[in-house]
Amino acid sequence: MTRARASSVRTCVGCRERNHPDDLLRVVVEDGIAIPDPTASRGGRGAWLHHDCLEMAVRRRAFGRALRMTSAPDLSVLTAYVASNSAKAASPSAPEA
Ligand SMILES: [Zn+2]
Repeated sequence: MTRARASSVRTCVGCRERNHPDDLLRVVVEDGIAIPDPTASRGGRGAWLHHDCLEMAVRRRAFGRALRMTSAPDLSVLTAYVASNSAKAASPSAPEA
């Protein structure tokens, strides 16, 4: 049970690629609203996502599946967060394409 901690990777619900939690944004749902959890401090079930993969995750209805919801969560808060975050993002490593 404890061995899994050694390789702490999470799967992005958008592109299904695995990354370290540092590279992904944790998302939780409270009262039907998807909320960004950048410090991964909130309890409960979370979904992990690249900032760039929000649109893909929405198209695939990945949140409902990942968070075991019967209906899609309200993504307005999360969308606004990702939009403002990627706008000021100073790509820390190699730029993608
Ligand atoms: Zn992704």
